[in-house]
Amino acid sequence: MKVIDKLQTIQEQVNQACENAGRHPDEVKIIAVTKYVSIERAQEAIEAGLRHFGENRDDSLLEKWDVLEDKPTWHFIGSLQTRKVKNIIDKVSYIHSLDRLSLAKEINKRAESPIQCFVQVNVSGEESKHGLNPEDVLAFVQDLQGLENIKICGLMTMAPLTDNEEMLRQCFKKLKSLQTEVQDLQLDEAPCKELSMGMSNDFAIAIEEGATMIRLGTALVGE
Ligand SMILES: *Cc1c(COP(=O)(O)O)cnc(C)c1O
Repeated sequence: MKVIDKLQTIQEQVNQACENAGRHPDEVKIIAVTKYVSIERAQEAIEAGLRHFGENRDDSLLEKWDVLEDKPTWHFIGSLQTRKVKNIIDKVSYIHSLDRLSLAKEINKRAESPIQCFVQVNVSGEESKHGLNPEDVLAFVQDLQGLENIKICGLMTMAPLTDNEEMLRQCFKKLKSLQTEVQDLQLDEAPCKELSMGMSNDFAIAIEEGATMIRLGTALVGE
């Protein structure tokens, strides 16, 4: 199916979820996750009107960054090795996977201007998942003070792979309540206005629980 047709279906689901939650669809940005697909397919996503793109590896990001027309806004969404920061730092506007101080320091050192970062939180506590434990988030955000090129624009999580709606909802609610706690710190460098949560199989629930950026691969551009 063409990206433009998939996007239309997804936009309807986004609109419905927003309506359920009394939110405006403009509050939710769709990030097209192109990690599974070819450059041609990514270009098709540009032509469908998508402007936010996500990749989880430095090499595939660079490959697409180089050739896609109409330069989209790039999001780095995968776990990021410290030594790879220099490869992507001037290509991305957002990093969704900040999860340790050593990484923050490297980003701070390499960036020429402030980078919008999400603190990745392992809400579900699954061992396979990256991210900070929820109870460590506030101290971590405070530790970042003084790193002038790190802006904490929000929090990010990956929900467990399950169809259990209640489990998904609890996970997203927890991230939302952590966001409020970070906002209450009132740090200049951590406005924490965004919530990056929701993927192909759970984005409607994530939106109902407050997502402002959803990261869609399979459902939007394909596997
Ligand atoms: C792959 C990936 C996605 C997209 O997953 P889909 O289920 O295909 O939509 C979103 N976020 C992250 C961090 C990913 O690695």
